[in-house]
Amino acid sequence: MAIDVRRAAVFHGPDAPSDDDLATCVHCGLCLNYCPTYRVTGLETESPRGRLYLMTQWTRGGLPFTRDLARHLDLCLGCRTCEAVCPSGVPYGRIIEHGRAELERVRKVDAKRTTATIVMRQVLKHPGRLRAVGALTRLAQATGLTSLSAQGRQLPKLSEPFAPPAGNVARALGPMRFKVAFLTGCVMPIMYARSHEASVRLLQVAGCEVHFPAAQRCCGALFAHNGDLKSARGLRDHNERVFAGDDYDFLVVNSAGCSSHLKDFYSGVGERTRDLFEFLAEVGMPPPRQEVRARVTYQDPCHLAHAQRITRQPRELLQSVPGVELVEMPHADICCGSAGLYSALEPEMSRRILEEKMDSVLSVSPEQVVTANPGCQMQLEAGLKARGRSDIPVRHAAELIAEAYF
Ligand code: SF4
Ligand code: SF4
Repeated sequence: MAIDVRRAAVFHGPDAPSDDDLATCVHCGLCLNYCPTYRVTGLETESPRGRLYLMTQWTRGGLPFTRDLARHLDLCLGCRTCEAVCPSGVPYGRIIEHGRAELERVRKVDAKRTTATIVMRQVLKHPGRLRAVGALTRLAQATGLTSLSAQGRQLPKLSEPFAPPAGNVARALGPMRFKVAFLTGCVMPIMYARSHEASVRLLQVAGCEVHFPAAQRCCGALFAHNGDLKSARGLRDHNERVFAGDDYDFLVVNSAGCSSHLKDFYSGVGERTRDLFEFLAEVGMPPPRQEVRARVTYQDPCHLAHAQRITRQPRELLQSVPGVELVEMPHADICCGSAGLYSALEPEMSRRILEEKMDSVLSVSPEQVVTANPGCQMQLEAGLKARGRSDIPVRHAAELIAEAYF
């Protein structure tokens, strides 16, 4: 049913995809079976080819904006698996990002999404408020309040937040080879402090002096993925100033969604951005000092495997640790259904995708699951808990690798 016949002549803003970008899709269908939403629904409209057709017709004026059209775009995870396998080079990530922005511009109020946008703008942009939310959540967990709601029960147990060392610098262990900045990010220091601590230790072992500029803010990835490009640009401009200049050789990021966003969306800083495992593989690590006995499976974060094509480096680093048995689950690079805010905004589709992922994880009987993105970590923890397998820990791969050195 058509609810708004306003048409978007073209996508808006810098980097907006052109009609030629949309026309790169030759409708071959090679992407279909890699798309998580197509895999669970079998529907063309929930496939990359279908969504590209809808967006093309919409922007050309051949289709009106309808609730159904919005639904098919909302259900896209933005995982970019289709982009990675497309032989025609369709820039799907950029197209869906601008499609989402256009969607938010023209659609009437959607209570859930409007609330999410307000919460993001009011909390994620403000480090002080984020810390306050973290402290309240820890208090609620300590008093058992979070066990009263399904969403509260899904939250990982929060420990003390990550605190950069005195002077906001961690010295290299041994001779200094590189001076790097570290993106602490928005939710990671609160939810997964241990991932940051392990990542920084690995950088120190690799000969890095690690700097934590105090003025840095959220990179804006969650805003961009949810159609709020204005906020994303504001955060980018702020961080570009913070990380500008020749003070650092690289900006190292241990969250796949953030490193991907920085590379795609930032200019000078983006060129100096490296994902943690990409960086460690590039500069080389000294031999591990001790054995870590564990049967481990690795979940590829979509924004590492598909947006950045980094799949080999984390596996090689894991396999360099004596005692680690890396077992590949089927379809390790298919999305787990987390996708930023997707699991909160589209819980039903997210749960269906997670079911398939849990079958894959449990089929290889791991003792640990490792990944490299906080959203994936939270989603996999929730999936294992739902299957009664909370005995299998889910960790950032850096935590396991760091055990070989400390
Ligand atoms: S997006 Fe690429 S792989 Fe998918 S149908 Fe179009 S051309 Fe083929
Ligand atoms: S980004 Fe992911 S969910 Fe969206 S169309 Fe591509 S493969 Fe499917």
